[in-house]
Amino acid sequence: MYIETPGGSGETAEEVVKFLSNNFDTISFVVSGEAKSAGTIKIDDLEEIEQKCPKCGEVCKIYAKFTPNPQIDVDFKNKGFIPFPKDAKIICKCGFEIDLSGIKNQIEMQTGREIIVK
Ligand SMILES: [Zn+2]
Repeated sequence: MYIETPGGSGETAEEVVKFLSNNFDTISFVVSGEAKSAGTIKIDDLEEIEQKCPKCGEVCKIYAKFTPNPQIDVDFKNKGFIPFPKDAKIICKCGFEIDLSGIKNQIEMQTGREIIVK
C-alpha cells in the first residue's frame, strides 16, 4: 500500500486502516515524503476508550498509546480525547473518580503491548 497525503483527518486514516485490516491479512505500508500527521498514525499504535461516568453518565474519551508518537497526542487532544492518566484514574466533571486500572490491564492483555503514560 502506498500512502501520499498532506495530513488531515486521523479518523479517515483509521477508517482506511480498519477497512484494509478487515480485507487483507498482511498490509505493507510505504509512506512517501509527503505523508504527514494522519498518514503516520497506525490504528494499532493506540486504543480509544470511551468511559461512561457511573454517577452522572458523562462520557469521557480517553486514548492510550503504545508508541511514543507525539502526533498521536496532537491529533487526539484536538479531537477532545484526554491522554491515559499515569495513575489510571480520571476525575469526572461531577467529581466522581473513575478507576481505569481494570481497563488498562484488559487492553494490555489483549494487545500484548504496554500503554505509554507520561
Ligand atoms: Zn460524572
